[in-house]
Amino acid sequence: MQDVLPILGQHMADTLTTKQRSYCMSRVKGKNTEPELVVRRFVHSQGYRYRLHVASLPGTPDIVFPSRRKVIEVRGCFWHMHECGDKNLPKSRRQYWRRKLKRNKMRDVQNEKHLRMLGWRTLVVWGCENRNLATLQRKILRFLAHKNLE
Ligand SMILES: [Zn+2]
Repeated sequence: MQDVLPILGQHMADTLTTKQRSYCMSRVKGKNTEPELVVRRFVHSQGYRYRLHVASLPGTPDIVFPSRRKVIEVRGCFWHMHECGDKNLPKSRRQYWRRKLKRNKMRDVQNEKHLRMLGWRTLVVWGCENRNLATLQRKILRFLAHKNLE
């Protein structure tokens, strides 16, 4: 899915109707994406238990570790404007896309701030990080093992 999105984005900008496009946009917060499943399978295999898509927390975080007050957010690089994906911005209607995606990014920042104020820590995992699993797994384990001291 991850690699398809930039292409889908370009396609959408050009040919989809408004209704179809808003359907696609509503999927910005993609649930159960392949990168998310990879992360879930890994933390589960390490003995961590979690809740999914907790709507009572800001931004409905993807993977929630209630006793640790930690969340892992798995973000698609296109939809959340990861640096790696900038070059993939659709060629037509760039303004439109830039605005839409910027709004996603601002929302991410707000949610993270809000979570932090409530005493939750967030780890962001980008779709592209799935390409280097060993590094990603180390990052996740470090995050989960770390104590929230503040
Ligand atoms: Zn990326």
